[in-house]
Amino acid sequence: MFHRAHIESNSEAYLAPYAMRARASRGRSYPETEALYRGLFQRDRDRIVHCAAFRRLEYKTQVFVSDLEGDHHRNRLTHTMEVTQIARTLARALALNEDLVEALALAHDLGHGPFGHSGEEALNEVMRRHGGFNHNIQGLRVADLFERRYPDFPGLNLTYETREGWTKNMTSELRARHGFMRDEAPPLEVQLVGHADEIAYDTHDLEDGLHSKVISEDALRGMDLWHQTEQEVLSEHTTLKADTHLRWHAVVRRMIRLLVGDLLSETERRIALAKVHSLAGVRTHRDELVGFSKTMAVKKNILEKYLNANFYLHSEVRKHTGLWQERLKEVFQAYLDAPLRLPDAHRERTKKEGEPLERVVCDYVAGMTDRFAEIQWERYCKK
Ligand code: MG
Repeated sequence: MFHRAHIESNSEAYLAPYAMRARASRGRSYPETEALYRGLFQRDRDRIVHCAAFRRLEYKTQVFVSDLEGDHHRNRLTHTMEVTQIARTLARALALNEDLVEALALAHDLGHGPFGHSGEEALNEVMRRHGGFNHNIQGLRVADLFERRYPDFPGLNLTYETREGWTKNMTSELRARHGFMRDEAPPLEVQLVGHADEIAYDTHDLEDGLHSKVISEDALRGMDLWHQTEQEVLSEHTTLKADTHLRWHAVVRRMIRLLVGDLLSETERRIALAKVHSLAGVRTHRDELVGFSKTMAVKKNILEKYLNANFYLHSEVRKHTGLWQERLKEVFQAYLDAPLRLPDAHRERTKKEGEPLERVVCDYVAGMTDRFAEIQWERYCKK
């Protein structure tokens, strides 16, 4: 039987010199005796999978409102699982810490509110004069404060490195405020998960877009990335010309493979070019070391612009999310007007923690699933 120290050194023996290792971790905010049979980052992963915010991902919209628009589309939980699989593949191929990457990927969307991007916009709008709303900062708040499961500390008490997953786009001011070193690059594992997220949503949004008939294959053929991928697939399987359903899946699958391959080789090239040989080298390197080649980045960008204009903002997609963007603001207002509607533990935060009521209401609404928010709207706002 292996114990933690042995398990960690076993699983880390093959890691690249610039990978993150458990013994190099900056640890947890509240010191704890570590688990007997699990490494540091394994324990983070388990805490994430067992937390309430993780379970609620199933009932949160990714792009389509699931209970209204069919059960085949992705929700935030299935998206999270796809990101995790892609991220683990990338980590293993680059000899990075797969346990840390898994924890980061499983946690990456924990801060999202109900109704996807529209919900985030609604909350950001009502919070404009009170510090705004951002799902990355909210992810940190969920993990650090709102999960109440342990007697000795609030939150999940995750390691510094797993928490770093939510520092994306943070200014050095904000980093410092949340307990991170001001001007440091995150480990490669953190950089990698951001790109795995992009690969996952770009490709599965294409698939969901085609199946829902919101976007057409003809329009996609006008773009290099789709066109070239389709040509490759058809040259190997001519029968796919006659089978639309299988053809879409084959193209999307191949596209993931192309993006993953490009990311791996470009990242390896950048690491060699920058002569990075250690974690310290990663931390002090200015530019992002994980990334796509220039050619791929251009193609990917064209695809993302297309998806932005023709999918996310399409009337069919916005039909429900647009409606709920407005209704979520009404739900927010309903609690602000009558704070007694808030559960006691939430309302008391204004006194105990000195949080402004607006922030307390925002935190509460952001934690809601789509359907819970719908029930509250019916209850308090429906005329
Ligand atoms: Mg995501």
